[in-house]
Amino acid sequence: MLRSIQLKDANVVAEGYADAGQAHSVAAPLPFAIEYRGVTRRFKNRQGKGEMTAVSNVSIGIKAGEFVSLIGPSGCGKSTLLNMGAGLYAPSEGQVTLAGKPVRGPSQQVAFMLQKDLLMPWRSIQKNVELGMQIRGRGKAERAEVARALLARCHLKGFENHYPHQLSGGMRQRAALARTLAVEPDVLLMDEPFSALDAQTKMVLQQDLAQMLAAEGKTALMITHDLAEAIALSDRVFVMSERPGTIIEEITVDLPHRDNPIERRKQAGMNEYVAHLMELLKVGRDDHLG
Ligand code: ADP
Ligand code: MG
Repeated sequence: MLRSIQLKDANVVAEGYADAGQAHSVAAPLPFAIEYRGVTRRFKNRQGKGEMTAVSNVSIGIKAGEFVSLIGPSGCGKSTLLNMGAGLYAPSEGQVTLAGKPVRGPSQQVAFMLQKDLLMPWRSIQKNVELGMQIRGRGKAERAEVARALLARCHLKGFENHYPHQLSGGMRQRAALARTLAVEPDVLLMDEPFSALDAQTKMVLQQDLAQMLAAEGKTALMITHDLAEAIALSDRVFVMSERPGTIIEEITVDLPHRDNPIERRKQAGMNEYVAHLMELLKVGRDDHLG
């Protein structure tokens, strides 16, 4: 029984505009914080002859302040979608927009966080957090102040002058989160940010992330293979098919405590959602989820 799960046709994007459904409202609809409209991406084959389609006709809209996860089999085009959101390359068809404006390249509104922390080994943790601000030309004293405050919020007070190799994997990922937030992005794109961490460290970081994003009203789009993580953190989860990846299902997570995933994990309905995702991804029936 999946009473609490609301399933909708994910390719219908009208829902999501703040005023959709209010027929008499005269206010202009708010644009999505990030929106993919009919996005297809093809790549040349390795041999250079012919093309393959990585992502096919994806339409999703994410509202400001929403946390959305993307799950799907390996190679279905999840990272490709995220990379297009970050402006690293353009769609072959369709369009990606940020607050209603077409993405034409990397944007200051967007920050990217990957499984690998990508901290620079020759810079201290604080200098790593300052990097984005430095590139954007912010003054030395201001940078230092912002970085130190963020590191404290990410539970790294006292480690400012350490180098990445002196920190555990979890601490490095905390530093990466501080660096991501330092540039004050509106939208966070996260590609399996916690997948290299052990289960406990992961839950603590998820908790911090959820609290910070909820407190600041940031928009997040996260790729994960961890089905419970997707449910624990998200307002909605989009499920993708095998390549060419397209959205096959949208799940609205109707559970409380989006800002407290540890509490959400204890909710009675949690397992139903995870079981449903396992069904969709055929977990246990073959090795689709790699
Ligand atoms: P996922 O993140 O879901 O595992 P990806 O988005 O990384 O999948 O890749 C989707 C498909 O597109 C894969 O078959 C991959 O090999 C291919 N692909 C991704 N990026 C490129 C690229 N820059 N050039 C050629 N093929 C690519
Ligand atoms: Mg990927």
